[in-house]
Amino acid sequence: MRQRRQSPPRREEELEESMAVQQNRVTRSKRNMRRSHDSLTAVSSNECPNCGELKLPHHVCGSCGYYAGREVVNVAQDLDLDDDS
Ligand SMILES: [Zn+2]
Repeated sequence: MRQRRQSPPRREEELEESMAVQQNRVTRSKRNMRRSHDSLTAVSSNECPNCGELKLPHHVCGSCGYYAGREVVNVAQDLDLDDDS
């Protein structure tokens, strides 16, 4: 590695020299091989058997708090802030 990082470049030529430049052309084939893993996959979702909302598989339902047929998380429902009691 060249030791060019100690002092900031002063002249414009030195600035240009410090830029990274690719050594070899990347072919269409190599570029596409690199991008073969870049595709996104859709998030899978199941319908909650309790309330019917869409939920992630193997996750507690976010709207009713049920998992495997029983309530595991107490989801606060109808929080009325205007209630004077
Ligand atoms: Zn649910």
